[in-house]
Amino acid sequence: MSNIAVLTSGGDAPGMNAAVMSVARNAAYLGMPLIGIKRGYNGLLGRGQKFEDDFIRLDLDTVLDIADMPGTYLRTARCDEFKDPAVREKAAKILRDLDISGLVVIGGDGSFQGAMRLCELGIPCIGIPGTIDNDLSYTEVTLGYDTATNVCVDTVRAIRATSRSHDRPHVVEVMGRNCGDLALATAEATGAEVVVVPEADWRIDDVAKRLNHQIEIGNTRATVVVAEGCWASMEPFDVYEFLHPYGKQVFPGEPMTTNRLASILKRKCGMAEVRSTVVGYTQRGCSPTARDSMFAFEAGAMAVQLLRKGISNQAIGVENGHTFYMPMEKALAAKRHFNRSLYNLLNAL
Ligand code: ADP
Repeated sequence: MSNIAVLTSGGDAPGMNAAVMSVARNAAYLGMPLIGIKRGYNGLLGRGQKFEDDFIRLDLDTVLDIADMPGTYLRTARCDEFKDPAVREKAAKILRDLDISGLVVIGGDGSFQGAMRLCELGIPCIGIPGTIDNDLSYTEVTLGYDTATNVCVDTVRAIRATSRSHDRPHVVEVMGRNCGDLALATAEATGAEVVVVPEADWRIDDVAKRLNHQIEIGNTRATVVVAEGCWASMEPFDVYEFLHPYGKQVFPGEPMTTNRLASILKRKCGMAEVRSTVVGYTQRGCSPTARDSMFAFEAGAMAVQLLRKGISNQAIGVENGHTFYMPMEKALAAKRHFNRSLYNLLNAL
């Protein structure tokens, strides 16, 4: 086989480098030269002046040190032009000119869409699901999700030390885009008293009621975990109307935020303080957990094996704890499963 290539695309996720390392080791073992493409699909647009602007030869020596590093050594970036068929034709030509006969795409659903379109142009592609959001339904877990969950759990535990010390509730926002898995897992692992996610409609008054119940039973240090996408499923609430009379800096029509939710809960629950923390990008910045690294190792090996066998247009994932693959189109069409009974249980106790 001629060259194969690998790129990382979409948001960076811990474990992406481990997956690149695994692809490199397996390619080297099979004697297949590997080219890294820089900044997602941007590297395929032919904008660079020289080869090194967009590509890097990933021999073992180059990647041996990166497997444990968070972020992505190959860099990642949005590339909206790639949605244009003419741009993709050009990209496919560049891949052919480089004698690249297979591409491993590490990214989320958008990146997989790009990979499917490249397959249609005769470039064999394999997808590895790299995103902390766990928003790809065909797989039990995505690469980076376990690491991000552990960061969130550590953060909530650290916050709870202060919550306990000051008898003060706390609202913690975690990532996940429109998927609540990270919030649910964080709430479950930390025993948080309230959790809100994009998949379930919710009202501020219900959250206040639950928090009040906790206060009534003597728990003045409860944790409310909110998913970053939860505002979409919140019953509309006039932030200005509620907070303005308290002299808060807020203007008509302003959206809800985690900080404002804490401010509202403080007043609805009659607490001296309700504080808030947005966990933010630290969720992406840790070395991958053993679990993510193991998935990266297996996925990288499977991707190279599939390309070598001439199998293309497949998405790699985890099913019943085992690494597997399935057609990319079917994978992207898989229906989301929301664990409502867990959600209900977490909010009921
Ligand atoms: P993720 O892969 O994490 O879902 P994005 O949705 O930002 O992240 O997608 C990453 C990249 O994938 C985009 O910047 C674009 O280059 C490519 N992409 C996304 N959607 C499509 C599409 N429909 N067709 C072709 N390429 C796409």
